[in-house]
Amino acid sequence: MSTDNRKPSWLRAKLPTSQRYREVRDMVDTNNLHTVCQSAQCPNMGECWSRGTATVMILGNVCTRSCTFCAVQTGRPTEYDLGEPARVADSVAKMGLKHAVITSVARDDLKDGGASVWAATIRAIRHKCPNTSIEVLIPDFRGHLDPLDIVLDAKPDILNHNVETVERLQRPIRKTAQYKRSLSVLNHAKQRGFVTKTGLMLGIGEQKDEIAKTLQDIRSVDCDILTLGQYLQPSPQHVAVDRWVTPEEFEEWKAFSLSIGFGVVESGPLVRSSYHAEEQSEAYGLGSKPAEETASA
Ligand code: SF4
Repeated sequence: MSTDNRKPSWLRAKLPTSQRYREVRDMVDTNNLHTVCQSAQCPNMGECWSRGTATVMILGNVCTRSCTFCAVQTGRPTEYDLGEPARVADSVAKMGLKHAVITSVARDDLKDGGASVWAATIRAIRHKCPNTSIEVLIPDFRGHLDPLDIVLDAKPDILNHNVETVERLQRPIRKTAQYKRSLSVLNHAKQRGFVTKTGLMLGIGEQKDEIAKTLQDIRSVDCDILTLGQYLQPSPQHVAVDRWVTPEEFEEWKAFSLSIGFGVVESGPLVRSSYHAEEQSEAYGLGSKPAEETASA
């Protein structure tokens, strides 16, 4: 299906104008951090940063994968910064977050995929901000369970891993990733008792029956929280938008997802993995109690 290159009105995001926005930007710069908000050109920066929320991206800003939808820089990473976990924790404290979302680039160049830095970051935040709930948006660690268990042993409150798209489009869009592997990441975390979360982009070439099938596959591994958002093309070199999904259709997918058992669904054109994550975590009673009460070791 072809589409109009001009974005529809429902995709216009708020402009970054507030004092709080500038404070978040200064804090990110001062602590020498990367954010997925900037690296992925997220359209919600005006809104999220004005609310004092940013999603820190650890392990550098160069990704070893080259997914055709993603704006994050691809190449051979050089950063391995053991001081990063403390700076991330410091930033979470300065932002006063009740719920922190941390993500990373894929680091297939590292033996443990960066899992030890992930674990150190979770523990540093827990130590510095014991009342902050922690959501980790992780890569698939190439399907290896050892690094995944290193992350889970650090007891995040929510394990988020994006399936991103329907099974047919995995290879053209995610290249190195695999649909069943992503489902197995979610399944393993659920089997260990964690709250799990995933997300899909719509409007990237999928058919409606494929969306329904994907949502059912994700529910088959008992995933709790779902985000659905419109794919936006970061540059002409990235895969093109196939269609603009209307706000009404997003509402229909939300109703369908809730009907098949998801606990919380955030669905809308500008929804991204970390959008309104704090509100989603509150639905699970997080944000004010330690991880031991919510996840098994
Ligand atoms: S939705 Fe997530 S990535 Fe986008 S600006 Fe908000 S916190 Fe950052």
